[in-house]
Amino acid sequence: MPNRKFRIGRARTGLGLFATEPFKKREYIVTYRGRMLRNPEAERLEARGSRYMFEVNTRWTIDGSKRSNVARYVNHSCRPNAEAIERRGPTIVYCARRRIKPDEEITVDYGKDYFAAFIGKSRCQCPKCRERRAEQQAKRRAKAKRAARKRLKLRRERRIAAKSKR
Ligand SMILES: [Zn+2]
Repeated sequence: MPNRKFRIGRARTGLGLFATEPFKKREYIVTYRGRMLRNPEAERLEARGSRYMFEVNTRWTIDGSKRSNVARYVNHSCRPNAEAIERRGPTIVYCARRRIKPDEEITVDYGKDYFAAFIGKSRCQCPKCRERRAEQQAKRRAKAKRAARKRLKLRRERRIAAKSKR
């Protein structure tokens, strides 16, 4: 395909879309392609396991499950570098939220509902969530260490006290 400035590659959560050339802020990246469905039908399909439904507005959803829709490879991030924009059609395009460097993974925020239903804070693999979990774990470890040190100190004091009694 011409004018493509990205490639599909291995990401932390399976496949992902990666920039092959720089993108300027607000630059067009890719269009979310697929058949248009009325929202109730899209909801039925989603209930049966479809994961690529993109709700455009109060009436229409794009079923982006076809492999030819390369935008489906764009993964979620809580701190994304791209965003979905509604264009006339209606249609959805992904544009850069900030400058994107080559080899950076292109990500968008899937939105609260999708996040709550399919991802969740404890499982999100985006850098922001991984950082948050690492910090929490470091805090837990530091706390455990402090507690262990305290136990050791108490034991030592007890030992000294026992010795002095003898
Ligand atoms: Zn996240």
